[in-house]
Amino acid sequence: MSNPWTSYISTLRATTARELDLRYELHEILFGNPTKNMLPHGRIFIIRRFRRDTDNERVPCTCLNPNFNRPARNPSHKCRFCDAEGYLFEDHFVVGYFSMEYPQPFSTKEESFGSLEAIAPSVYFEYNVQVDEKDYILEPYLTEEGELADGPVKIKRRLKINVCQEMRADRGRIEYLRCRVSEDHT
Ligand SMILES: [Zn+2]
Repeated sequence: MSNPWTSYISTLRATTARELDLRYELHEILFGNPTKNMLPHGRIFIIRRFRRDTDNERVPCTCLNPNFNRPARNPSHKCRFCDAEGYLFEDHFVVGYFSMEYPQPFSTKEESFGSLEAIAPSVYFEYNVQVDEKDYILEPYLTEEGELADGPVKIKRRLKINVCQEMRADRGRIEYLRCRVSEDHT
């Protein structure tokens, strides 16, 4: 008779091995894999990555009014250097995965009452994407095929990053990034 623990232990190993390959799995989810008939589920986002100084603070634009922490000029007259952000940035097109996450059925009592995380939209990015809470994620309008339309990029939603977590597996390597976001109306 075979040892009943053998299959149990091999299950554990399989789980660990799979966990260590989350980079690859997210890549497949985002871009698909024709050899496995997997369709791509990624979406084009723009990461508005702000330039940083040596203290990791955002670099202000010349139009910034430090008293109000926003551009001094009329917002309707957008600064051509910073798009009225007040800080200098670069936009990067990145493919990510958008997910609406609902409360877990086993959440604790405290979490289930008035929690900000009751419905938590998140955007997942590959491990090597440069993004953190000081940046914004912009959602451009896309064609039905999920491509950028011709002409100037139009922004559908602007997402504030509340928390950006580096998700790590057993060996401590970053497997993917999860940005918990909320719509930004500023
Ligand atoms: Zn400016």
